Amino acid sequence: MESNRPLYEQVILEHNKSPRNFRTIPDATQKVNGYNPLCGDQLTIYAKMDGDRIDDISFQGCGCAISKSSASLMTTLLKGKTRKEAEELFVKFHTMVTSAPDAPVDKGDLGKLMVFSGVREFPVRIKCATLAWHTMLSLLDKKTEPVSTE
Ligand code: ZN
Repeated sequence: MESNRPLYEQVILEHNKSPRNFRTIPDATQKVNGYNPLCGDQLTIYAKMDGDRIDDISFQGCGCAISKSSASLMTTLLKGKTRKEAEELFVKFHTMVTSAPDAPVDKGDLGKLMVFSGVREFPVRIKCATLAWHTMLSLLDKKTEPVSTE
């Protein structure tokens, strides 16, 4: 963890300060609200689907640096991906953040998402990191009811 800390902080703080795809999509085909009562994170994920492909994805809302930067990075990674690819990335990300703090992380699969491996040492933060992802998964399932991490 110590050796990861500068990168962890840099990427997360940067995405928190200048979140990517932080906007609404006026002609979104789907939108879902996500809420993490434990921390107070609240966000809405918007997507414009082209069949099974994510043509555009964005988010709005407010929350801590972890939840916001996780949503920001997620949208940059999922734009243009198919539903299946998005679900596969969800599984990889979720497996990583819920693994033991000292478990090895497959860097090749996760790329920048690696920075969130630091949350494994702070169980309360795992829900912040996964909120956008759970909300996205619900959106892909064409659900409309709000997602809560509780
Ligand atoms: Zn949070």
